[in-house]
Amino acid sequence: MNDGGPVPGRECGSCDACCVVFEIQVPEIAKPPGVPCRNLTKAGCAIYESRPDMCRKWLCGWRLISGLPENWRPDLSGILIYQKVCKEPGYGPAALVVSLSERAARLSDNALLGFIHSTIAMRVPLYLTRQVACVETRLIFLNDVLGRTVHAGDGPGFVAGLARLMQPVV
Ligand code: SF4
Ligand code: SF4
Repeated sequence: MNDGGPVPGRECGSCDACCVVFEIQVPEIAKPPGVPCRNLTKAGCAIYESRPDMCRKWLCGWRLISGLPENWRPDLSGILIYQKVCKEPGYGPAALVVSLSERAARLSDNALLGFIHSTIAMRVPLYLTRQVACVETRLIFLNDVLGRTVHAGDGPGFVAGLARLMQPVV
């Protein structure tokens, strides 16, 4: 899924999703999940030139996967995709996470449905999480929950199963 480097022409622009959603443990930042980094300003990262290595190296899926739609920049779409180590038995070492903000595209977004379906069909390990006030809820391993419907070609079952997972988070 990762084509090996940043997708040409895609820039973070005014997106700051990864500077808010994730817990960051490096001492220069040390922040809990769901709160903006202390260095984040309205104009972007105040220490951009000297930002920690971790910030320099990290890119979300939209920056790395050319197959994702152009309009899926996380701040605009509410869809934050990223890589994660996979420890699920029988799967490869690299998983993807689909992290949906409260303003994320709904399941009427066929591109989102298609991405989830094709990723599971390719047996790429895939997790879903929902953000509540920018904090991610528990990860759901979609290959376990939806794999049977995907591999059986049960489209309605797949959509219904995903819809159940997309019920409002309480
Ligand atoms: S979430 Fe992606 S597009 Fe947004 S700032 Fe981070 S790396 Fe850039
Ligand atoms: S240091 Fe800059 S790039 Fe890194 S998390 Fe904070 S605001 Fe984002």
